[in-house]
Amino acid sequence: MSVLVTGGAGFIGSHLCRALLAKGEDVLVIDDLSTGSYDNLADLDDGRRLRLIVDSVNHEALVDTCVQQVSKVYHLASAVGVRLIIEQPVRTIQSIVGGTESVLKACARYRRPFLLTSTSEVYGKGSKVPFSENDDTVMGATSTRRWSYACAKALDEFLALAYWTEARLPVVIVRLFNTVGPRQTGQYGMVVPAFVSQALRGDPITVYGDGQQSRCFAHVYDVVEALCQLMDCPAARGQVINIGNNEEISIEGLALRVKEITGSDSPIVKIPYQQAYGEGFDDMRRRVPDLSKIAALIGYRPQRNLDQIIRDVVESKRQGARD
Ligand code: UDP
Repeated sequence: MSVLVTGGAGFIGSHLCRALLAKGEDVLVIDDLSTGSYDNLADLDDGRRLRLIVDSVNHEALVDTCVQQVSKVYHLASAVGVRLIIEQPVRTIQSIVGGTESVLKACARYRRPFLLTSTSEVYGKGSKVPFSENDDTVMGATSTRRWSYACAKALDEFLALAYWTEARLPVVIVRLFNTVGPRQTGQYGMVVPAFVSQALRGDPITVYGDGQQSRCFAHVYDVVEALCQLMDCPAARGQVINIGNNEEISIEGLALRVKEITGSDSPIVKIPYQQAYGEGFDDMRRRVPDLSKIAALIGYRPQRNLDQIIRDVVESKRQGARD
């Protein structure tokens, strides 16, 4: 039996497919290619061990047929990136909530283990550092569109946990913190690929706000290895688990690291949030994961640091990865 990866043509999904194939699994992908790209899977698509179905996870009958054929389900299909969420709020909410409902329903029917990739956005504006899985979530006003993403993903988490509580469906929920690596596009606003592309072109590096907000960036290779291990970890069932890296850097500091690693002459310019995102935006000042739970479950420790992450993104852009 193969495994199903929804959103398998996306940035993280395609790296997960590669890792699963390397572990000897056959992989079935459902992806509507809305933000994913066939290019991400092209080298894996030899017509034997990877099968791609181009459709939406909101298509219940299709999802049912696919889930019946596989032994476990990694559900990554989701709207991606803050910019898209602000620009297309209806599609975002419907694809997140409806898609997860459809996949979970089929997993419950055939009792297939289910892993949901949720997000650190769920912590919202919480100011506690670091974020631990049982911390309160702090959402902004519903008039601020950014929070629709966090609320929709939180609802996905509730639904998955409800299947675990009511029917002991094996579910694992992971909250991904900022995840970066080769082939990630800056098109949806993600800061590292955006800065690297700007630096390589010699364009200004655009730091939003005062640049003192900070993030922690994890290498996608560390993240997908953790996804595979958590899926097969009995103690992870019914749990919410952070995945990320806890090396923190300010966004201005990141711009300087990118400039240094690329050897670029690009100026660093500061752009007000309003100009960058328009209305409907609220930023988080800090976002650091507490990694003690995942360390206890699978012995996770990030293997790659920020400089390696930036170097891998630079290398991938130099080899022609899309901006
Ligand atoms: N950011 C920036 N310049 C860019 C893109 C993003 O300064 O060209 C900032 C953004 O405002 C945020 C941080 O970088 O403070 C991380 O943004 P991203 O969208 O990558 O992730 P998230 O906001 O979800 O952490």
